[in-house]
Amino acid sequence: MWDFSTDPEFQKKLDWIDRFLIEEVEPLDVLFPSVSVVYNTRHEASRAILKPLQDEVKRQKLWACHLGEELGGEGYGQVALALMNERLGRSLWAPTVFGTAAPDTGNAEILAMFGTPQQKERYLQPLLDGDIVSCFSMTEPQGGADPRVFTTTAVREGGHWVINGEKWFSSNARYAEFVLVLAVTDPEAPIQKRMSMFIVPRETEGLEIIRNAPYMGERLEMDEATEGYLHYNNVRVPLDHMLGEQGGGFAVAQARLGGGRVHHAMRIVGQCQRALDMMCERALSRRTQGTLLADMGTVQTMIADSQIELEQFRLLVMKTAWIIDRSHGDPRQARAHIAMVKVGMAKIYHDIVQRALHLHGSLGATFETPLAYMWMNVPTFGLADGPTEVHRVTVARELLRRYKPAEGMFPSEHLPPKIAAARARYAHILNH
Ligand SMILES: Cc1cc2nc3c(=O)[nH]c(=O)nc-3n(C[C@H](O)[C@H](O)[C@H](O)COP(=O)(O)OP(=O)(O)OC[C@H]3O[C@@H](n4cnc5c(N)ncnc54)[C@H](O)[C@@H]3O)c2cc1C
Repeated sequence: MWDFSTDPEFQKKLDWIDRFLIEEVEPLDVLFPSVSVVYNTRHEASRAILKPLQDEVKRQKLWACHLGEELGGEGYGQVALALMNERLGRSLWAPTVFGTAAPDTGNAEILAMFGTPQQKERYLQPLLDGDIVSCFSMTEPQGGADPRVFTTTAVREGGHWVINGEKWFSSNARYAEFVLVLAVTDPEAPIQKRMSMFIVPRETEGLEIIRNAPYMGERLEMDEATEGYLHYNNVRVPLDHMLGEQGGGFAVAQARLGGGRVHHAMRIVGQCQRALDMMCERALSRRTQGTLLADMGTVQTMIADSQIELEQFRLLVMKTAWIIDRSHGDPRQARAHIAMVKVGMAKIYHDIVQRALHLHGSLGATFETPLAYMWMNVPTFGLADGPTEVHRVTVARELLRRYKPAEGMFPSEHLPPKIAAARARYAHILNH
C-alpha cells in the first residue's frame, strides 16, 4: 500500500510538539543561540530552563524517540521520528529538549546495540536520561574520510588497553562525560577488521585536548569552540571498556553513522521549511519599485523551485525512514537511500537557505534573523559523517550492483534487433 497520511493519534502528538516548540523552546533558541551552550551541562541558566522542559517531554512519551522499544526507546519507528524531527529541526535547542541531539543519539544507539549490561548502566542510562553528553572520536587530522589512514592505536597490556594517537573534530569533547574512540587494534587485518571501539571516560589520565577548534560562527574570545583536537597519550582503559568485539570497530562506527545521517536529513527538512516559510512571508511583505516581491516572476521561481525541491527531498527522507522500519535491523537494505539523503541534504540546504537569505536582502545577511546562523551551517552537511563525494560513490555502486553488461557489442536497448523481433512477433497480423 502507498499511504501518505499520518496516524491521527500520532498527529495529536505532533500538534502538541508544534505548540510546545513555539511557546517553550523557541525562547531558549533566542536566549542562548550558541551550540557551545547547548552541550555545556554546567551552564546553569540554560539548564534551569532546559530540565523542566525535558521532564515535560518525558511525560508526553516523546523522549529519545530515535531508539526502538527493544533498545529502551518509545518504539514509534523511523517514519514517526522523521515527522517529529522535521519539527525539531527548526530549532537549535529542540533536539536536546527531546533527547535526540547528535552526536549523543548515535552514541546511544551503538551503546544500546553493542554495549554490555555494565556499559549500558554506567554510560547509556545517564546519556538517555539527558544528564550527560558524549563525544564520538573517529576523524584523524591526517584524513577523516579515509579510515585506511587512521593511525591511533590500542595495544593490550595485561588488564588494560593502552591508546595512543590524535583525533580531530571530536565534537563537544570538552563537555563530554565519555568519549567513544576508534583505534587500530590489528594493523595487518583488512580494513573492516582492523579497528575496535573503546569507551574512554573523559577524566582518564592521558586524554588531553590540544585545543578546541572554533567551527564557523563559534567565537574564540567567548570560549565557544566545540571541535576537540585530542591527544591520546598512553590512555589506559580496562579490558571491559571495549564496545563490541575486537576488530568490530568499523562495523560499530558504520551502525552509528547510518542513523546519524538520516536523522540529520530529517532535521534538515525542518530547517528548509523554516527558511521557505520566511521566504514566503518576506515575498508577501516587501515592495520594491511599486511591486510586491511575491508578484515578480523571478521571486515566484525561487519560491516554486524551493517548494518542489523540498517536497521531493522530504519524500526521499520519508521513504528512507520507511525502508529502515521494514529492514529488521539489516543496514544493507537502506544503505543506498541513506547515502542519497546524505548527498541530497547538503544541496537542498544550501540552495533554499541561500534563496531565503538573498530575498531578505541586507537583513538576511545579519544575525537579526535565523538565516545567517543557518548559512554558517551549510558546509556541515556536506562534510560531517563523510563528504558528499564518498556518498555519491555509495549511491552509484549500490545502483550498479543491480545491472550487468550488455551481452553483445550493442546495448540491450539497441533498436534494430528489437524492431526485427517485434516484426516477427506480430508477423501474422502485419503480413495479413
Ligand atoms: C561540524 C562537523 C562536526 C563533526 N563532528 C565529528 C565528530 O564528532 N567526530 C568525528 O570523528 N568527526 C567529526 N567530523 C569530521 C567529519 O567526519 C570529517 O570532516 C569528514 O569525514 C571528512 O574528513 P576530513 O575533514 O578529514 O576531510 P578529508 O578526508 O581531508 O576530505 C577533504 C575533501 O576531499 C574530498 N574527498 C575526500 N574523500 C574523497 C573521495 N573518496 N572521493 C572524492 N573526493 C574525496 C572531498 O571534497 C572532501 O570534502 C565533523 C565534521 C564537521 C564539519
